[in-house]
Amino acid sequence: MEKFIPVADIRYASRAPVIPAGFSGPTGLLEDTLGRPLRDLRISVTDRCNFRCSYCMPRQVFDKNYAFLPQSSLLNFEEIERLARIFVAHGVEKIRLTGGEPLLRKNLEVLIEKLARLQTPAGKPLDITLTTNASLLAKKAQTLKDAGLQRVTVSLDGLDDGIFRRMNDVDFPVADVLRGIEAAQRVGLAPIKINMVVKRGTNDGEILPMARYFRNTGSVLRFIEYMDVGATNGWRMDEVMPSAQVVARIDNEFPLNTLDANYAGETAERWRYSDGSGEIGVISSVTQAFCSDCNRARLSTEGKLFSCLFASQGHDLRALLRGSYADEQIAAAVGLIWRSRSDRYSELRAALPSDTRPVEPGLKRVEMSYIGG
Ligand code: SAM
Repeated sequence: MEKFIPVADIRYASRAPVIPAGFSGPTGLLEDTLGRPLRDLRISVTDRCNFRCSYCMPRQVFDKNYAFLPQSSLLNFEEIERLARIFVAHGVEKIRLTGGEPLLRKNLEVLIEKLARLQTPAGKPLDITLTTNASLLAKKAQTLKDAGLQRVTVSLDGLDDGIFRRMNDVDFPVADVLRGIEAAQRVGLAPIKINMVVKRGTNDGEILPMARYFRNTGSVLRFIEYMDVGATNGWRMDEVMPSAQVVARIDNEFPLNTLDANYAGETAERWRYSDGSGEIGVISSVTQAFCSDCNRARLSTEGKLFSCLFASQGHDLRALLRGSYADEQIAAAVGLIWRSRSDRYSELRAALPSDTRPVEPGLKRVEMSYIGG
């Protein structure tokens, strides 16, 4: 049998950005076709992770033969900083570093230092944060804080050690994540957000123990509906626990009141414990799509710009960075991409029968570990 060696990675198709003529520079006031501004940039710094959560990087797919991106494909820190500067000029005020597991990226603090020096057109510092599984947080919290990181979001799907070890599928103990959270608290990477993905029948029994544990700690526990991102997690609607049920369960033990959003485009709906012991959030992208005020752009590890978490194609900004294009030309291309944006995947899915997903024919949706959570 003949053996074929692929010469190009065709897993993720991409579009070549167009540089429009006559662009007069970023104004910080970009709007897409639905009137949504660009405020939030999520940057994936690695497509690798040391966990194998079945809803994100199932080990049957992400096994020892899986072809992660080679080092030469990744944007280096200078390239990321250059793009971040362009996005900030277009109106971005918040940058979240993510992945894969961002703390696996070597010398991440060097990137954070660079990003922390950027300012909005109004002269304000950026809000810089990071999402992590906390496996390396106890060791790195102080260095990250010293580099200019302001806050962290930690993913933790339960307090029961057996359930958590099964969900991360690498036998990682809860105690080490809790140690990471304590270290982040100690060095002032706060207020900490704790993200729990709820899968009905797998960890919904952990909702109340998590609520009890994180009340009165100053950390904000957020429950995320299990989403149909990517193409490998075998998502089924009956495994989604609607946020309304999560809120009802907690409210039954600890009465809750609604809170207003902190800012337009916030992903979580906020609730406070009526006894003053803190707040929780619910992120309901399945049962209550929030596309209408989505102001987030995502930059993949290899520099493709995605205007929706559920997109199947990105725009290859790395080609511009590594071509001989000036910042103004790259800014013009980014501006055109955002102004042309019409994505509203979750709203479209909500209008379809349960378990049906809107997809572009012939294309596969990208994985969250690649595009950045
Ligand atoms: N490794 C980091 C971490 O664990 O936080 C950052 C990347 S991870 C992809 C970002 C977030 O996405 C995590 O909170 C994770 O639980 C969440 N996530 C991944 N797949 C998901 C899915 N199918 N539905 C809902 N949330 C998901």
